[in-house]
Amino acid sequence: MDTTVNKITIEKAKASKIGQVDFNNLSFGEVFTDHMLVCDYKNGAWESPRIIPYQPLVMEPSARVFHYGQAVFEGMKAYRDDEGGVWLFRPDENFRRINSSCKRLAMPEFPEEYFFEGLTELLKLDQDWIKPGVGNSLYIRPFVIASEPGIIAAPSKQYKFMIICSPAQAYYGGEVRVKIAEKFSRAADGGFGYAKAAGNYAGQFYPTNLAKEEGFQQVVWTDANTHEYIEEAGTMNIFVRLGDKLLTCPTSDRILDGVTRKSVIALAKDMGIDLEIRPVAVKELLKGMEDGSLKELFGAGTAAVISPILGFGYQGKRYELPKVKEAYASRLKQQLIDIQYNRAEDRHGWRHKVL
Ligand SMILES: *Cc1c(COP(=O)(O)O)cnc(C)c1O
Repeated sequence: MDTTVNKITIEKAKASKIGQVDFNNLSFGEVFTDHMLVCDYKNGAWESPRIIPYQPLVMEPSARVFHYGQAVFEGMKAYRDDEGGVWLFRPDENFRRINSSCKRLAMPEFPEEYFFEGLTELLKLDQDWIKPGVGNSLYIRPFVIASEPGIIAAPSKQYKFMIICSPAQAYYGGEVRVKIAEKFSRAADGGFGYAKAAGNYAGQFYPTNLAKEEGFQQVVWTDANTHEYIEEAGTMNIFVRLGDKLLTCPTSDRILDGVTRKSVIALAKDMGIDLEIRPVAVKELLKGMEDGSLKELFGAGTAAVISPILGFGYQGKRYELPKVKEAYASRLKQQLIDIQYNRAEDRHGWRHKVL
């Protein structure tokens, strides 16, 4: 039977799939919870937000998303603390960003109340999927696609906003060595690199595959004009430690404004780490390898939190970073995780209690 909470209609799954899931052996993003949120945009308005059992979509093959790539998404997590409470981390940032991504792709913005009410109701229904223990989380994937039939190259007049959820364990990406991009780019001035758009990912796969053939796991993207400045590490923001100074490049229309990045910046300041936001040249990394001042490189993003980079390749040469004690990467990661799991004081008001 359907019930309505606030403005959200809820149709419960007949049976939960949770018993079939081995929570100790989860591959990232392969298993989904029992329910999903769906909301349709038609006639100029978002209407009938509903939670229904997780199920396939039926769409016309001519739907715009398949032809012109009007698709944006978000990535966020729900965490369970030691007392059983469930928390989100800075969800207002994800809400703001999905609408900024939508705007750039000529897609309609989504209403705030539907986002938060829908997400809260969804997490209530699927709360058993959020396991306690640091590292365990529920990965939340809101996304918007253009659903209008017809292959006219113009923005769709119909869209679907959806949220699906996938239980996740601590994400260990293995040892990460990166290739610094000399030819390929992920984003250009005036483009949509700052948006979390599906197309930005599609364009990264091929150069990343080439880097993988050379034994690297990721590409460090450089500025499209000169390839002299580093911008992002794969699908994460990038941080560099030169001596005791932590550096990260400023955001721009080529760089995604990551929630983890801005949290790391604030935490580094709290911890008294000398931090500077400025463009970082590839040359500085090479010089830092020569004189020993390059101590750390790491990526920052929701999925892996902080991912240390062990080495990099550039112009046919390979460089290995030194092993440092009390690395900024591990100190910052610990601090961030402690806040996310309600184990440390939340000085900035980042935690948002859901249950
Ligand atoms: C999602 C994403 C990030 C990280 O953003 P968070 O909000 O920290 O998860 C960084 N770079 C790119 C290209 C991304 O898509």
